[in-house]
Amino acid sequence: MATRADVLRELGLAPRWRLRARNEVVHAADGVDVDVDNDVDPRRTRIASLAFDALVDDIAQCRACGLCATRKRTVPGVGAADAAWMFVGEAPGADEDAQGEPFVGAAGQLLDNMLAALGLARGNDVFIANVLKCRPPNNRTPEPLEVDACRPYLDRQIALIAPALIVALGKSAACTLLDVDASVASLRHRIHRYRGTLLIVTYHPAYLLRTPLDKAKVWEDLLFARRTLREMASAQVVS
Ligand code: URA
Repeated sequence: MATRADVLRELGLAPRWRLRARNEVVHAADGVDVDVDNDVDPRRTRIASLAFDALVDDIAQCRACGLCATRKRTVPGVGAADAAWMFVGEAPGADEDAQGEPFVGAAGQLLDNMLAALGLARGNDVFIANVLKCRPPNNRTPEPLEVDACRPYLDRQIALIAPALIVALGKSAACTLLDVDASVASLRHRIHRYRGTLLIVTYHPAYLLRTPLDKAKVWEDLLFARRTLREMASAQVVS
């Protein structure tokens, strides 16, 4: 039976990987091919070939940056492995570090409400992850070295899940995935692409806890995301 990844690939919605000079394409266990630069980073090459469960195990063992010394639990992500929607936040906080699941604190409650307003639910056509899989002490902003060390995990998650759309929650996720340094305000209202996958930027739920008046902006962004997804899907059916 065709998997969701097969169907998305067929529809042209799956990530498109371009072969770069000196790179090789890794034919992974799940059939999602990725390009990797062996000369630059063998660890990335290895992670880029891991299947879903092996990736979770690898994250649990990870000692690639100093956060492994202070974490209680790793927080790989939660949700459907074939989700159409992927939400990406910054990093686990104290609650997430304790429970091993992203967005379970106050910001997570708000995210769940946002999902419910869209008719979505955690785990039901939705995958939730963070840029970092371990908590930075005192919830400080992730260091560039930590983001670099964790990035292969997020890249692999996106390749495996092959979501139809990514929602980047806040500046950290948006700037990491788009490889830019820009404000959330300047990145909203636009359809971006992350390696071929549609990407929409909105504010982080924790920001909304501090600035509740901006909830309307996030709702606007989520409706934009849903409209974009539907328009893409119907364009693919017509063509
Ligand atoms: N903030 C995030 O960015 N991620 C979480 O998992 C929790 C809070």
